[in-house]
Amino acid sequence: MASTPRDRTGSLGEYRRRRDFQRTPEPTGGAPAGPGRGLAFCVQKHLASHLHYDVRLEWRGVLLSWAVPKGPSLDPRTRRLAMRVEDHPYDYGGFEGVIPEGYGAGIVLLWDRGTWTPDRPDVDDALARGELKFSLSGVKLKGSWVLVRTRRDERGWLLIKHADEWSSPEIDIAAVAPMSVTSGRDFAGILAAEDRDIWHSDRSAPAKGGTAGAMLREIIAEAARRRAGAPRPRRQRR
Ligand code: MN
Repeated sequence: MASTPRDRTGSLGEYRRRRDFQRTPEPTGGAPAGPGRGLAFCVQKHLASHLHYDVRLEWRGVLLSWAVPKGPSLDPRTRRLAMRVEDHPYDYGGFEGVIPEGYGAGIVLLWDRGTWTPDRPDVDDALARGELKFSLSGVKLKGSWVLVRTRRDERGWLLIKHADEWSSPEIDIAAVAPMSVTSGRDFAGILAAEDRDIWHSDRSAPAKGGTAGAMLREIIAEAARRRAGAPRPRRQRR
């Protein structure tokens, strides 16, 4: 898609600068489908140096992106820290897989996706003011939400669910619905689907210490068990 003043695809420089596309399976950047469909949103559960959820909203040809360490909460009383990160290409919204090395190395699970609608049409103005109200129509996340910028930090926002028929103070949505919305897989399933051992040892794994490191070690072991028990991919057979 040609870059026009109305689109933001010129903002993908930072996304591209951080990646070596010879070494990562992530998209280089593709254009949205034609008009007449809703604006896309997705949430990607990303186990990298730390576990977080990347919330992405399509706007002017790219995905506005926030990294939410604890993931979305359906409880209106819970404010979840959401760090604004660089715009991602539109076609990143379909990505699920293993990033073997480099920036964001780890496993990406497509946790939810659907369409979003801003409450007011001028999204750029809402971003500039630091308060973006919108509704989601996903598989796991629905109804009314807001992203509010904190005063302390340009990149620091809060993701909050508004009280409505889709809010719930009890349901921990990340815990009750942990699997990929497209493949039905968990992290170990996504890793096991790779043809080869991406990380041969703990030392080569992207997360080493802390909670994420411990999680990743378990996932690597579980993926190896599943791979040993499952038939090899057909193309590798004689
Ligand atoms: Mn991420």
